[in-house]
Amino acid sequence: MKFLTSELIAVLSEAETRRNIRGLFGYLAFLGAAVAVYSVLFHLIMSWEGQDHSWLTGFYWTLTVMSTLGFGDITFHTDLGRLFSIAVLLSGIVLLLIVLPFVFIRSFYAPWLEAQMRLRAPRAVPEGVRDHVILCRYDEIAAGLIRRLRERDIPYFLIEPDAPKAATMHGDGLSVVTGPLDSEQTYVNLNAGAARLVVANLGDFDNANVALTVRERFPDVPIAAFAEEDDSVDVLELSGATRVVPLKTRLGEYLASRVTVGPAHTHLVGRYRDLRIAEFPVENTGLAGRTIRDTRLRELTGLSVVARWERGQLIPARADTVLTDHSVAVVVGTEDQLAELDALFVIYHPNDNPVIVIGGGKVGQATARALARREIAVSLIDRDPSLRNNLAGIADQVVIGDAADRNAIMKAGLEQTPSVVLTTNDDATNMFLAVYCRRLNPGARIVSRINHERNLDAIHRAGADSVLSYSTLGVKSLLALALDTEATFVGEGVDLIVEPVPAALAGERLGTGQISSQTGLNVIALHDPDGSTRSAHADTLLESGAELVMLGSSEQRKAFREAFVD
Ligand code: AMP
Repeated sequence: MKFLTSELIAVLSEAETRRNIRGLFGYLAFLGAAVAVYSVLFHLIMSWEGQDHSWLTGFYWTLTVMSTLGFGDITFHTDLGRLFSIAVLLSGIVLLLIVLPFVFIRSFYAPWLEAQMRLRAPRAVPEGVRDHVILCRYDEIAAGLIRRLRERDIPYFLIEPDAPKAATMHGDGLSVVTGPLDSEQTYVNLNAGAARLVVANLGDFDNANVALTVRERFPDVPIAAFAEEDDSVDVLELSGATRVVPLKTRLGEYLASRVTVGPAHTHLVGRYRDLRIAEFPVENTGLAGRTIRDTRLRELTGLSVVARWERGQLIPARADTVLTDHSVAVVVGTEDQLAELDALFVIYHPNDNPVIVIGGGKVGQATARALARREIAVSLIDRDPSLRNNLAGIADQVVIGDAADRNAIMKAGLEQTPSVVLTTNDDATNMFLAVYCRRLNPGARIVSRINHERNLDAIHRAGADSVLSYSTLGVKSLLALALDTEATFVGEGVDLIVEPVPAALAGERLGTGQISSQTGLNVIALHDPDGSTRSAHADTLLESGAELVMLGSSEQRKAFREAFVD
């Protein structure tokens, strides 16, 4: 009863609902007037026909006819009377059976439901919540981050200003709090002072507003903000953001780092303490066609080849694995060992024709700039003529035209290029272009952006060698900030996973293969309790207290915990 009263108060407290309810009463008054007029007319026509009925009968007849019940116990005998009956019947259908339910639902029932929802939306985090992550919007990146936070039992809360929407999200099992994003009270309700991270994942203006609002009340909480425009980075920092992530620029730079051109060199993808994880495309290194044993990389540099990428699949490396021109080898070792490997590669002469970047938006421009910094010639294609002047300062050659047009892409130099980077903002276009470029230049390395992780397999099937998604990059950047670690981007669907050696495996040799056969994880190194890190081999002893450093997906990490920890 108390809940019902509070719902009623909530419904009636809205100005719009009060207006709607006034409208509903107005309509009911109109309906009452129509019934009264029909009852009077009933009397007059009945008297004209020579029949005598009470006022109550007139009211009763009007209601039975208007509601289409029509018992037939009282009837007119003349054409005028029947014509009147038809008019009452038709107006009854419209007024009572069509308009009344509609007005009732719109003016009362829907606002009632909405008020119920609004009351159900949480307005504050439960008592004692701390070390949580606060996100300002639920989108693909937030969903990915939430998945990872849940795996690590880290609490999170989303802010949803629209209370009924927040109630639906709450019903769907998401942790959500409703409140205006620009109100200090919202962050007080979220206990933001004790949060491990506040994520401003809106547009640049709104992110600045969030940072200013949070900072005003909580001087120490870390705030991460996404920036669409490079120029916004300073403004967001001045507004109070501790870390600003210009995601599109980062994506462009990552795409550029996946390009094979110039003298071959290793590209750092992650680090764990002293250990460096790097990858290098085998093309242009002279290693293609050899087994990993025959490359003698371990003897020459001390590095271990732990895996190889083949068209989007990370495959654990074995001594007899043959590297191909399309392989990208993943190596683990120290910084000095990587430098030694780079020095070995210098002697190979690569194809130094311009790299083609398709799409000259923010991502394409960032890719072109990053390539230019490596002194790599770039040919940029965009179909938007208004970009011509902007792009001319970044690329060596600018082609304005649709990349799917054979003339345009040939003009950009597809036949000779060592690598094509697809950066358009549409996954379907990138897939189409991957197939197209692969057909016209089967040897080119194709690197592509995707916007949705779900398209990952499809773009690899289309012919892309290396793919990076906007959302994965966003998730990994935020996760690293939430965990206060360095962002590691080994590749799509692959994380750097560190787990203590489980009691069930302590004292065994890695070569027994239990971890890889039961979980699919690839153990690349061991971090000993004395602080040293060593690369993993088949005869490595798994000592208790040490940490396993592995490559794999979050599903494989879950399988590991289920098999050996839980
Ligand atoms: P952004 O999302 O800011 O990186 O912008 C993507 C860019 O890709 C835009 O400048 C588009 O004009 C460009 N683009 C999209 N489709 C094509 C295409 N088929 N050929 C050439 N450029 C394209």
